[in-house]
Amino acid sequence: MISSLTLLMNSLGLRTEWRVIQGTADFFSITKKMHNALQGGEIDLSGIKKEIFEQVIYENSVRNFLEHDFVIVHDPQPLPLVEHLRRWIDKYDAAILSCPEYKQEMKPPQHVFMPAINPFNIKNRQLSDKEIDERLAHYKIPTDLPLVVQISRFDPWKDPEGVVKAFKLARKEVEATLVLLGNFATDDPEGSQIFESLRACQEEGILILTKGDDTALVNALQTRAAVVSQKSLREGFGLTVAEAMWKGTPVIGGNVGGIRYQIEDGVNGFLVSSVEEAGECIVWLLKDKKLREEIGRKGRETVREKFLLTRYVEQYLDLFGAFDKNFRLRE
Ligand code: UDP
Repeated sequence: MISSLTLLMNSLGLRTEWRVIQGTADFFSITKKMHNALQGGEIDLSGIKKEIFEQVIYENSVRNFLEHDFVIVHDPQPLPLVEHLRRWIDKYDAAILSCPEYKQEMKPPQHVFMPAINPFNIKNRQLSDKEIDERLAHYKIPTDLPLVVQISRFDPWKDPEGVVKAFKLARKEVEATLVLLGNFATDDPEGSQIFESLRACQEEGILILTKGDDTALVNALQTRAAVVSQKSLREGFGLTVAEAMWKGTPVIGGNVGGIRYQIEDGVNGFLVSSVEEAGECIVWLLKDKKLREEIGRKGRETVREKFLLTRYVEQYLDLFGAFDKNFRLRE
């Protein structure tokens, strides 16, 4: 999202750069623990962990010369950067949240900018049947049966095991192939462990693939799937939901977090709270082509109205415009 957003901002005349922090393995192990704690998990945030966290951010601030009109800090990892910005900024001037329910008591004014997708990039542009066939063949993904697909980091909150269980329930009534596609992020040291434990689930008709960095493959699977699943147990927003809806593919999403702002249950997708519900929805959808088409059409319309990048960049422009020339919020 930041890649597309920064390109669009530059073409609108805002000189915008995208910097990425560099961290050590122990830094990312700590920030992943923080991520899990923010989702509701336990954390033992010892003094040494805090020190490593703040030290890495301090080192990044030294390398980054943060002398700009606006600095947008994404995600919790680089949060302490604000300590090292120009001295007169001692606190963030605004906070951007992806959903209204994430509002907290805090000094900066809070704005809700729901994430959005770039309809023109490789991940989301329209692919021809030939292009899709080529990508699927490249990874030996069979297309004789309908595809049920989930594309997510290998993370417990994305509930890949729950997806496999739901698929196995559904397969008692309908024939299909399940594809779980994931990738490994440098800031997510848990990924390979989860992947290893998932590998045991591989069997005839259940594929666990790690080529998730291939964005054309992501697009091909989201487009060709009969059903896309995003059965998260916790979810900030869930961009994969909007991505699949944009392709007119029906999505079954966990009834959590940002997924609830994208899917209206039974209208443009389905919201589920258990393995059994997910299994039932897979069966309904696979048995009923008309239902798939209707849900898919409404899903695409939802994304057109609410989740395209143009709306997102407009919200940033409005926010920047709300500051006067001394970078104070206008009254
Ligand atoms: N993604 C991908 N390949 C993968 C897994 C995820 O390209 O193997 C992309 C996915 O298409 C989406 C983003 O990573 O654009 C994940 O965003 P989301 O909000 O769904 O979940 P997060 O990983 O931020 O929790």
